[in-house]
Amino acid sequence: MLLLPDHSLATLNTLAVPAQARAYVPATRTEQVVAALTLAQEKRWPLLPLGGGSNIVLTGDFAGMVLHLQSKGIEKVDEDSRHVYVRVAAGENWHQLVEYSLQQHWWGLENLALIPGNVGAAPIQNIGAYGVELEEVFEELQALEVNSGLAVTFSREACEFRYRDSVFKGRLRDRYIITHVILRLNKQPELRLEYPALHAACAHLSQRELTPQKVSELVADIRRTKLPDPAQIPNAGSFFKNPVVSVQQFNELQQAFPGLVAYPQPRGVKLAAGWLIEQAGWRGFTEQGVAVHDRQALVLTNPGRSSGKVILALAERIVQSVVDLFGVVLETEPRIY
Ligand code: FAD
Ligand code: NAP
Repeated sequence: MLLLPDHSLATLNTLAVPAQARAYVPATRTEQVVAALTLAQEKRWPLLPLGGGSNIVLTGDFAGMVLHLQSKGIEKVDEDSRHVYVRVAAGENWHQLVEYSLQQHWWGLENLALIPGNVGAAPIQNIGAYGVELEEVFEELQALEVNSGLAVTFSREACEFRYRDSVFKGRLRDRYIITHVILRLNKQPELRLEYPALHAACAHLSQRELTPQKVSELVADIRRTKLPDPAQIPNAGSFFKNPVVSVQQFNELQQAFPGLVAYPQPRGVKLAAGWLIEQAGWRGFTEQGVAVHDRQALVLTNPGRSSGKVILALAERIVQSVVDLFGVVLETEPRIY
C-alpha cells in the first residue's frame, strides 16, 4: 500500500480548490482498500473515499485519509434473452464506460454520456441526466464495510435510490466503500427521447439515423454547449438540487411568478433551481474568483481557484436570496468536506 503524506488535492477535485490530505492512498486492488481501512481505523483518521472528485467541496485541508479508488475492469458476467449483466470496477471513468458499452452494443447508458466522475460514485447520488437515472440500469453493487472490511452486496432496493439520492447519502453515509457496480444493460435499444432538449435535437433525424450512439453524441453536444468543462473552468456541476415542493406551494408560487419552471412529480412539483437563482439576479455574478455560470445559474464555477469557504459563502447568499424571494430552501448537491 502506498501512502503519501500531506498530499495536494488541488488537481483531484474538479472545483480546483487548493487543499491537502494528511494521508493520500491510491488503491487499485481490494486488498489495498482493506489495508487502508485498517490503517485509518488504527490511526482514528476520518476517511474520504475519492473517485473523480467532481461532486465534493473541500472547505480546508482534510485531516485524515483520502482513499483514491482506482481499480479497473469491465466484464460481462451474465446474460439472458433481453439483458447483459456487466460488472464494473469503481475506478473506471463513467463516460469511458458509456463509450465502451456502446461499442459492445450494450444499450441503456446513452443519456448518461459525459457525466464526470467514476463508476464507484455513480450510485451515491443515483446519477441522472436527460430523463434517465442510474437506478434504471442498476442490478446490484459490491462494497466493503468501512468498520470491518467485510464484503457486502446491495440490491437495487437496498440502495434506496431516490432523485439524486441513495441510502449512501443518508442512513448509511460513510459506512461503505463501493468496489464494483453491476449494471443490467439492454440487448435491444430502447431510446429515451422525452427530455425536451434531447427531443428537440432529434427532431430532424429519421428513424434509421436514431441510434443509441447518435443519442449519446447528441447528449454530449448539448452538454458541451451549456455546461463548463471542469478541465477548462473548475466546477462541480449543479451546486444545488432541484427542490420538490407541495402542489399547494407550487400553485401559490405560480400565481406570483407565472414564468415559474416546474415539473410534476409523483409526490409534489419539482422546481428548476437554476431558474429560481436566475430570477434572484445571480446569473453571471462573479466575486473573489467564484462565479455563477452564465449559461446555467445552477452551476457555480471557480476560475480563480478560490477556497471552498469562499465558494460556500457565495452559495449561502444565493440560498438566502432564493428563500427571501420564493420561500424555497435550496439544498447543496455536492458533499461538503
Ligand atoms: P467524487 O466527487 O469523487 O465523490 C462524491 C462522493 O461519493 C464523495 O462523498 C465520496 O466520498 C463518495 N464516493 C466516491 N467514490 C466512492 C466509492 N467508491 N465508495 C464510496 N463512496 C464513494 N451528476 C449527475 O447526477 N448528473 C449529471 O448530469 C452531472 N453532471 C455533472 C457535470 C459536471 C460538469 C460536473 C463537474 C459534475 C456533474 N455531476 C452530475 C456530478 C458528478 O459528476 C456525479 O455526482 C459523479 O457521480 C461524481 O463522481 P466522482 O467519482 O467524481 O465522485
Ligand atoms: P435543463 O435542460 O436546462 O433543465 C433545467 C432543469 O429542469 C433540469 O434540472 C431538469 O431536471 C428539469 N427538467 C427539464 N425538462 C424536464 C422534464 N421534461 N421533466 C422533468 N424535469 C425536467 O438542464 P441542464 O442544466 O441543461 O441539465 C441537463 C441534464 O443534465 C439534467 O437532467 C440535469 O440533471 C443533468 N445535469 C446534472 C448536473 C449535476 O451536477 N447534477 C450537472 C449538469 C447537468 P433534472 O435535473 O431532474 O433532469
